[in-house]
Amino acid sequence: MAEIRLEGVTKIFGSKVRAVDQVDLTIADQEFMVLLGPSGCGKTTLMRVVAGLEYPDGGRVMIGDRDVTDLPPRRRQIAMVFQSYAVFPHLSVFENIAFGLRMGRIAKPEVQRRVGAVAELVQLSPYLERYPAQLSGGQRQRVAVARAIVMEPAVLLMDEPLSNLDALLRLNFRAELKKLVAELRTTTIYVTHDQVEALSLGDRIAVMREGKIVQCGTPMDVYDRPHTEFVGSFIGNPPMNFVRGRLERANGASRIAIGEQRLAVPAAIAAKLENELVVGIRAENIEATPDAATDALQAQVQVVEPLGSHLLLTASVGDQELKIQTRTDFPAQPNAPIWLRPESDKIRWFDPRTGTEVSLT
Ligand code: ATP
Repeated sequence: MAEIRLEGVTKIFGSKVRAVDQVDLTIADQEFMVLLGPSGCGKTTLMRVVAGLEYPDGGRVMIGDRDVTDLPPRRRQIAMVFQSYAVFPHLSVFENIAFGLRMGRIAKPEVQRRVGAVAELVQLSPYLERYPAQLSGGQRQRVAVARAIVMEPAVLLMDEPLSNLDALLRLNFRAELKKLVAELRTTTIYVTHDQVEALSLGDRIAVMREGKIVQCGTPMDVYDRPHTEFVGSFIGNPPMNFVRGRLERANGASRIAIGEQRLAVPAAIAAKLENELVVGIRAENIEATPDAATDALQAQVQVVEPLGSHLLLTASVGDQELKIQTRTDFPAQPNAPIWLRPESDKIRWFDPRTGTEVSLT
């Protein structure tokens, strides 16, 4: 059982850099948790605290039912894979993978068996006699992964393991890694600033900002229901659209005025806001039509980008811009008028004073 529990974990560098600030997070046994956030938000530091490479200034780290806060890394039953492959250039693939086992004085036949089995798993069996210089980047990274998992750790920690690979290799290795970790069923923490990687790999994603976890949920949850404008714009490509408008209340109904346009606002939302609000809607949740419609927002096409599987339109409503995803046969021309209907059940409402979601409940 390797549940990881972080309780009030804080790490301060120097006198004022709060790299990790009061983080509470529980990672279930066998769960794949991604720490996602912009550069400098504290992901690596948090992972290094779990590994025992940094000592927290506050809080504690539990692995299973053991408090490991004061234990050195080697007594935590963890293995790490870093961004740089960190393989030994003077050792063969076999010896690289076997390194940790040899240090642990594991008997030779057992080393042979475990290295063989892991090499099979990461598809390195044909390369065991080669040296790292004779391998591709992807193969080298597989050596690093193999070296970690051969130790049969209770917890696997990975810090941007794909970021040194080129785009195609990254895509292939991502799927391989997902399959591998699902087979291993090892509790895993994976650090990345790449939101696509996070969505693709994680059972859950913890989104970090300035040392804090600002939202934690399944990939679809954080994508569909961001609690803040920050999460909505950090996850998704293009980012979620945010359109600001004035709240109008008349005859018991509420509407948002965006330039000359109006959109209905649920009464329960309006009741929680003052004069302004922000509509959050994803590009694929806006229905576009070239035909004038009274129940839709009128906009003007600015840019048309054919992206193979769909068109990405940039359109303006008043002085604000929106991204809209349409089918490739949509008749879009720059400067042409267009009418937009956001799918009502996909709209998220935000309070511009705080940047946080206003929910119906
Ligand atoms: P990146 O994606 O760029 O690796 P990150 O989210 O992993 O970023 P961290 O490396 O955890 O961020 O850094 C968090 C903050 O702590 C940053 O402001 C960083 O400059 C600071 N920091 C990290 N390590 C140290 C250190 N050893 N000494 C001083 N400050 C540090």
